[in-house]
Amino acid sequence: MGRLPFIAGNWKMNKTVGEAVDLVRELKKAISGVKEVEVAVAPPFTAIYAVRRELEGTPIGLVAQNLYWEEKGAFTGEVSALMLKEAGCHYVIIGHSERRQYFGETDETVNRKVKAALAQSLKVIFCIGETLKEREDGKTFSVIERQIEGGSRGLGDKEWRDIVIAYEPVWAIGTGKTATPEQAEETHRFIREKVEKLYSRKVSEKILIQYGGSVTAENIRGLMSQPDIDGALVGGASLKAESFSKIVRFREL
Ligand code: PEP
Repeated sequence: MGRLPFIAGNWKMNKTVGEAVDLVRELKKAISGVKEVEVAVAPPFTAIYAVRRELEGTPIGLVAQNLYWEEKGAFTGEVSALMLKEAGCHYVIIGHSERRQYFGETDETVNRKVKAALAQSLKVIFCIGETLKEREDGKTFSVIERQIEGGSRGLGDKEWRDIVIAYEPVWAIGTGKTATPEQAEETHRFIREKVEKLYSRKVSEKILIQYGGSVTAENIRGLMSQPDIDGALVGGASLKAESFSKIVRFREL
């Protein structure tokens, strides 16, 4: 049973509204006709409305980069799952390492956010990954295990249908250092086995596990050739239509 590859671009805190519209217009042209790959982009909140209008009638999905778990109220600066859903988002990224590192996100807050997203039928790109120190200390698997268990506490098989896991070793994000395809595969395999143990075989066979961390047109093919790598969450290389479209067209490289 094949899993459809899923390539998503995380624009992070980049692109004004005008720049976002330009990028998505170029991207639509650059990837038109590509089949059998799911593609999505995650603009900053301020550009979501404009990008949504550009994406109408295309198969490209719209992703938010974060949310807050409360539905509404006195939470200055925050955005709820309902607001994102209503604004046209299909997915939300939760637990990105930059949020864990700079904004104090923990497995517990990640779990609350995941539940809030799923309650509004927003799919989740659930990010996990170890730091360089954790890898060097031989803790990669225990960290991954803790993040999966903590972030998904209380979810059942049904909820897992709407979750994509993004494995992003922190040492590979924005650093130009990619995990080798074999290193990434080893952890992806571990993640799939962990999901099977925690939930079921069915869930683990279906779940998409993206790789993230300095993915480029040069390394995507090797990564995608691994049996448990089902796509990529792309940061830097998603900011230009040329580089992102090459990644989306990885089969042609
Ligand atoms: C990311 O932030 O999700 C990411 C993988 O970034 P980059 O591709 O720039 O390493």
